[in-house]
Amino acid sequence: LAPEYIRSIMPYQPGKPISELAREMGIAEASIVKLASNENPLGMSARAREAAVATLSDTARYPDGGAFALKAAIARKFDVRSEQIVIGNGSNDILELAAGAFLAPGRSAVFSQHAFAVYPLASNAVGATCIEVPAKDFGHDLEAMAAAIRPDTRVVFIANPNNPTGTLLAGAEIEFFLERVSSDVLVVLDEAYTEYLAPGQRYDAIGWLKRFPNLLVSRTFSKAYGLAGLRVGYCIAHPEVADLMNRVRQPFNVSSIALAAAEAALADDEFLAQSAEINRRGMVQITAAFADLGLTWIPSAGNFVTFRVGDAAGVNQALLRQGVIVRPIAGYGMPEWLRVSIGLPEENARFIEALRQILAN
Ligand code: PMP
Repeated sequence: LAPEYIRSIMPYQPGKPISELAREMGIAEASIVKLASNENPLGMSARAREAAVATLSDTARYPDGGAFALKAAIARKFDVRSEQIVIGNGSNDILELAAGAFLAPGRSAVFSQHAFAVYPLASNAVGATCIEVPAKDFGHDLEAMAAAIRPDTRVVFIANPNNPTGTLLAGAEIEFFLERVSSDVLVVLDEAYTEYLAPGQRYDAIGWLKRFPNLLVSRTFSKAYGLAGLRVGYCIAHPEVADLMNRVRQPFNVSSIALAAAEAALADDEFLAQSAEINRRGMVQITAAFADLGLTWIPSAGNFVTFRVGDAAGVNQALLRQGVIVRPIAGYGMPEWLRVSIGLPEENARFIEALRQILAN
């Protein structure tokens, strides 16, 4: 009954729940280390937790579908207007809303090879044509992406940093791309991991919105803010872009608990700095071990790093037997690689020790 473009979608493969895996492997749930979904190993901030709990007393009411308070807080923080903001059920929702509002059968979307899996999913779901552009050094080749844009292209997706490769484009490269791209193509700049960037890597995409009305900057509370389970993301764009996306958005797409937690999290700069710092240290810890083990990895600007092991399926199974969950990325066209999320120092150490043992055998 479904149209061909729905039947041809490759389903997103979520990881197994920890409880199920523990049962399968015959190991205690508490001893499992999950470094598979780029989550914040610190969990959520105490302030966000407090705000979430305070909201529980009022969940008989619908949430504020206009997300007035959260939008006002984002608008203040980034010096934009509330009309420029869309709040999503995770930034996945934002990506889908952009696809829903700007793509359709007969239109195409451009994205990079090895880029985030939701770009083809969201594009296919609305019957658009996907144009995947070969990556350059595992990252986005913006020149080739600009050349791949066709008259029917309406959306270009760019992940910066990219997941699963962790590659980062310099701000100036993206600016140059925006200058070249026609203004009737929406450029979705997905900055899910932007809070992890080192000071020297940062650029101000939101500041570019005045010059480029076809730019959309997407962000999330799932990573550095530690709210992945609550599902909140947002984007900042031209008011007309935001208006069109809001037309295809579910009226109450984000729960009141999530809205309150996100607003509190946004104000907690100390927690954000702590998350970035633990990530920076964990990245050094893990990549030093890769160097020691003679493994190749792709330098990453995110809270995860992708490394080459050859028989990734075999190494993944062996890690699972030791209670360490990482992410195989064969589905991203990288069958010899695994992606590990940066955890707490002791979690990273468990991963490193398990990997060391597996590679020694
Ligand atoms: N963009 C990128 C690049 C991601 O890696 C992810 C999470 N894996 C998302 C968007 C979506 O995350 P969320 O829906 O939790 O905001």
